[in-house]
Amino acid sequence: MMSLTKEQVFAQAKAGKLWAGNLIAGFVGNTAKLENRTPIDNSVIGYIADGDALDVDAAVTVARATFEQGPWSQLAPGERKKVMLRLAQLLEQHSEELAALDCIDAGKPITECLNTDIPATIDTFYWYAEAVDKLFGKIAPTGPDALGLIVNEPIGVVVAVLPWNFPAQMFAWKVAPALAAGNSVIVKPAELTSLSAYRMVQLAYEAGVPRGALSMVCGLGEKVGASLGKHMDVDVVSFTGSTEVGRLFLKYSADSNLKEVILECGGKSPQVVFDDAELDAAVPHILAAAFWNMSENCSCGSRLIVDGSIKEALLAKLVEGLKAWKVGNPMDETVSIGPMVEQAHFNKVKLFLDLTIQEGGRLVTGGKIHDNVGSGWYIEPTIFDNVSSTMSLFKNEVFGPILAVSTFTTEEEAIALANDTNYGLAASFYSQNVKRTMRVARKIKAGTVSINGFSEGDISTPFGGFKQSGFGGKDNGLEAFSQYIQTKVIWYVNE
Ligand code: NAD
Repeated sequence: MMSLTKEQVFAQAKAGKLWAGNLIAGFVGNTAKLENRTPIDNSVIGYIADGDALDVDAAVTVARATFEQGPWSQLAPGERKKVMLRLAQLLEQHSEELAALDCIDAGKPITECLNTDIPATIDTFYWYAEAVDKLFGKIAPTGPDALGLIVNEPIGVVVAVLPWNFPAQMFAWKVAPALAAGNSVIVKPAELTSLSAYRMVQLAYEAGVPRGALSMVCGLGEKVGASLGKHMDVDVVSFTGSTEVGRLFLKYSADSNLKEVILECGGKSPQVVFDDAELDAAVPHILAAAFWNMSENCSCGSRLIVDGSIKEALLAKLVEGLKAWKVGNPMDETVSIGPMVEQAHFNKVKLFLDLTIQEGGRLVTGGKIHDNVGSGWYIEPTIFDNVSSTMSLFKNEVFGPILAVSTFTTEEEAIALANDTNYGLAASFYSQNVKRTMRVARKIKAGTVSINGFSEGDISTPFGGFKQSGFGGKDNGLEAFSQYIQTKVIWYVNE
């Protein structure tokens, strides 16, 4: 399949020709489709399939049959590795096209898509391809009368339900380990962002993944997502999205076949700055944590908890640093902040701007809506000071560029504020005192704690949350395989 340049993708978008359909071996369902609009200027860039319960049923049937027949599930891991390495190479060849698709579909800055999202997507496929033939089972420490083999097996039919904020990368985080482990995988991309997933599934076929081992069903969460969640023949749902929808998947499972559910949900992550922090070094990290990807980021450091004695100095540096963050059309390579992903989401974020002022927040910078650009859903990076722990902005995941600033005087108070949330996905803190950094890292209740920088780790480290940020398994690292394999004991009696 020919790879497109970003200019070609943008031209297709302008002509309304971008398409993402269902990919289900041997099945053509209904032809209903949904309009796909770009948040950049709210114009129609094409259509996606409006999948339904019949499509879901067909995808599950073919996934199950393929799993049982074994062209993928029973292939030697070293052979699966070769196919997945080919896929990673194809992704690399198509990286500019995939970057442009995510940019136009989600309104993400093209520079980020080209330099961060798609390279990380490709790395993820290489990493799991290379890992899969290095996973060993175990032999139990039995006496001579028996031999206990502990073996890893793929589970069966795995559904990956994806969010819209990192379309290609979230696809990779789930599909790469699930496929590498030998499962039949069904992808349900977010209805707002199906384009890169569609292309990547097509590339997987080109690389040699059997059609029945990877399917895609597009469409609305309430229709396609719910049908997958309630299906009696799905073994695993690996979900990334909001905590609210994550809860629904637990209900779907309880009401159907008790399928395994892994949830990677929302966050309200703290950034704690102590009085001995190196402020100049911290500022770019604090800004990236707070505003990267328009703050449409699950691990967004949306609460800045700072020692009162250095607050004014830090705020001045943050305001200065933000001058380099240009708001505008994300197809422009100099832009760092594009639009909110859709009108409803823009309205929600705007509500928090208004509410925070009503509740007594002090606007330090930003707050402006750039309604003269494209769709008008462009919100300046905004900082509010005087945010107390009872205010809405402190408690709720906004998923938009609003940073809440609160202060502390003692280390205990800082830790208490950091942990004062229902979420526990990530945290970062800044201090030059090594003993303090270790002490605080241990006390913060979050899946990833970064010291003197903002990071989600990388593909080699497990990622996932505590508390209402999720449970059931981790993405990334070798730990991700535990979502997609089951352990069997084979007991030989030796008498
Ligand atoms: P969302 O929960 O609205 O949607 C996620 C997926 O669920 C989509 O594919 C959607 O179609 C589907 N869905 C929606 N309603 C459904 C329903 N009633 N039944 C079944 N499926 C349904 O989330 P989103 O708005 O796409 O993504 C943003 C959220 O994702 C944020 O809360 C963010 O924190 C979270 N997120 C978490 C991580 C992580 O690793 N923890 C990573 C990225 C995003």
